[in-house]
Amino acid sequence: MQTLVADHPLVAHKLTALRDQSTQTPLFRRLTDELVTLLAYEATRHIQVEPVSVQTPVATAAGVRLARPVPLVVPVLRAGIGMLDGMTRLLPSADVGFVGLARDEQTLVATTYAERLPARLTGRHAFVLDPMLATGGTLETVIRMLASRGAAAVTAICLLSAPEGVGRLAAAFPDDAPAQVRVVTAGLDQRLNERGYIVPGLGDAGDRLFGEI
Ligand code: URA
Repeated sequence: MQTLVADHPLVAHKLTALRDQSTQTPLFRRLTDELVTLLAYEATRHIQVEPVSVQTPVATAAGVRLARPVPLVVPVLRAGIGMLDGMTRLLPSADVGFVGLARDEQTLVATTYAERLPARLTGRHAFVLDPMLATGGTLETVIRMLASRGAAAVTAICLLSAPEGVGRLAAAFPDDAPAQVRVVTAGLDQRLNERGYIVPGLGDAGDRLFGEI
């Protein structure tokens, strides 16, 4: 599994503002949206394209377009919904699937409560949106769902990651696994605390995006 920590001053600037506890929901949403679009640029670096030619007003130009079948974007409910617009802005033709997982705050084990995915993903590239890669349990479950449907590549886009979660995914999806797994993240933090929160992190991403409901 490959991990890419985005190394860009704009990403670092927006991530710093996102972490700030005084950042209120409207700005938090906008920063999330902007960060995802920046991360999506890196996350789509290996996306499949096919050659096409277009007629310009002057001559014929050789170019490319996204290969078919189009990529699948999968926000993980609830917090991943806050990342969807930022991703589809860059990939407007992508299909969108949904997976809902809720984490038990005592055991930190996530259970699936919603799933709307294509039955077959043979040869397709899927992008999973989940702001916080903490224990890695949620992302491991979602990536297994996509790999078992035949996805050729799965890229997880996370605002923040913990070493524990990255380690878990690396162990679950070694380089010779059938699906190529990548994590693209704006920051790799120090550790998880005893409640499974990323330290220093940004708190509960779902609450900060959508309120404490
Ligand atoms: N989920 C969050 O929203 N925040 C964390 O720090 C860990 C998991």
